[in-house]
Amino acid sequence: MSTEPSFFARPSAIDTARAASANGDRKSSGKAPDSLHCILCQKKLTADEKAINLKLISRTVTTFYCMDCLGKKLGCGREPIEERIRYYRESGECTLFR
Ligand SMILES: [Zn+2]
Repeated sequence: MSTEPSFFARPSAIDTARAASANGDRKSSGKAPDSLHCILCQKKLTADEKAINLKLISRTVTTFYCMDCLGKKLGCGREPIEERIRYYRESGECTLFR
């Protein structure tokens, strides 16, 4: 299932103004602010992957890894990370996984 925002949709004037005042970066206008890529392999990250980085590393991380790279970094492979994501999702108690 994909929750990718449509980059073809024109942002409203309000959104454009808000984005411009938020980061002052002309390049990023119209792009979803939470569109992240793995710092190692440049793969586009899912919301789950982003959330598990916050959960396993730190709530204040600024660099993110995909499941594969995170698994390598932590030395556990990607399966335990997928399991962890499933656990947080099913437990429903973590606000990062909804
Ligand atoms: Zn990666």
